[in-house]
Amino acid sequence: MNVHEYQAKELLGKAGVAVPAGIVVETPAEAAKAYDALGGGLVVVKAQVHAGGRGKGVAVGPEVDRAEALAIASGEKPRPDGMAKGVQLVKSAADAEKAAASLLGKTLVTYQTGADGRTVKQVLVTVGHDIARELYLGIAIDRNLKRPVLMASTEGGVEIETVAARSPEKIHREPIDVGLGLADFQARKVCKALELTGDTAKKGAVFLKNFVKFFIDTDSSLAEINPLIVTDKGDVLALDCKLNFDDNALFRHKDIAALIDEDEEDPAELRAGRSGLSYVSLDGDIACLVNGAGLAMSTMDLIKYHGGEPANFLDVGGGANKDQVLEAFRILLDSPRVSAVLVNIFGGIMRCDIIASALLAAYDEIDFRVPLVVRLEGTNSDVGRDLLDKSGRKIITASGLTDAAQKVVAAAKAHSA
Ligand code: ADP
Ligand code: MG
Repeated sequence: MNVHEYQAKELLGKAGVAVPAGIVVETPAEAAKAYDALGGGLVVVKAQVHAGGRGKGVAVGPEVDRAEALAIASGEKPRPDGMAKGVQLVKSAADAEKAAASLLGKTLVTYQTGADGRTVKQVLVTVGHDIARELYLGIAIDRNLKRPVLMASTEGGVEIETVAARSPEKIHREPIDVGLGLADFQARKVCKALELTGDTAKKGAVFLKNFVKFFIDTDSSLAEINPLIVTDKGDVLALDCKLNFDDNALFRHKDIAALIDEDEEDPAELRAGRSGLSYVSLDGDIACLVNGAGLAMSTMDLIKYHGGEPANFLDVGGGANKDQVLEAFRILLDSPRVSAVLVNIFGGIMRCDIIASALLAAYDEIDFRVPLVVRLEGTNSDVGRDLLDKSGRKIITASGLTDAAQKVVAAAKAHSA
């Protein structure tokens, strides 16, 4: 789960990580008030959406072609005068109000959002800082090392992907022991890599240790501070922040789970989550309903191997009941992209004839507008297949995973032809 920048900064601030003061608002008038409340001077107005690249992004109304907006946000086309950026520096309450008005209710398109962009519902009004240096910090899980790795680079403020591709030696990597957090000697090493000295290095070490502790304590899966800045006064501050939390651990963090912005999530994934289904939307046209994550992965592999593209990952779990299967079908068929459905179920504890009956019941309740291919394997699989074959419904049965994949790819092609 992702959170907005202002939420991330609130969480980090409470955990002892230095962030600039800020106020989140929903109207231009509130932005003017927030400017004054922050004490005036240099203030930054920032669009709150779950995407980066806002500084170079463009906030547009319905009159602007989105593909054009994306080309501008990606630097492929020159930016016309007066087109609002997602991050704006202001020096008066009136300008803060204008900046907020240019963002709120508009669609922000950045190189990360794609042409669809995201609707801006809130802006963060935050103290502007004189930047002496822009650095980069990130923590991600390294699956080979089986632990989080802290990444630090002096090349902040730019896309870190570019740094990683062109000069990987400029990214310092520090593996973290989750039982110990960031040790003092590691904090010193990272400060040295970031070329922090004297008092700034001391502040940097506290920052780093608290940042790592926060990551571990909250079951984060990804945390990025870009840029981490050194101010002209030698302070270290998180100017921007992106956090991602492990969905599977959210039950331990009710306060974080409550920060969800449903408008930023995939509607099908949200709906599936409410029925206890593990669902991930993909770009293809073959919908899959499978029990067990491993089987779901191999089903998707086989579909691709036989020339098709999966529309989703869906694991109905071991104990899927009829209501869950019904809801799963509805979610799958809701997507206009889908041109065939493959059900691939292994009936071990649950017998295949019972699964077949449940499938038939679900089939009758739903308007199946696309071909349905079913492969049942396990206890009583022949009885189950027989039930489907003799049911009089337009269900294509398959034996074996290869047969199923080939049949569904062919059915999808025939349907969309
Ligand atoms: P994004 O990564 O989405 O483009 P950032 O928060 O990183 O958004 O902002 C982009 C740039 O705007 C930063 O690299 C920094 O140069 C400038 N900026 C952002 N916040 C502030 C601030 N509080 N004070 C001064 N400059 C800022
Ligand atoms: Mg940034």
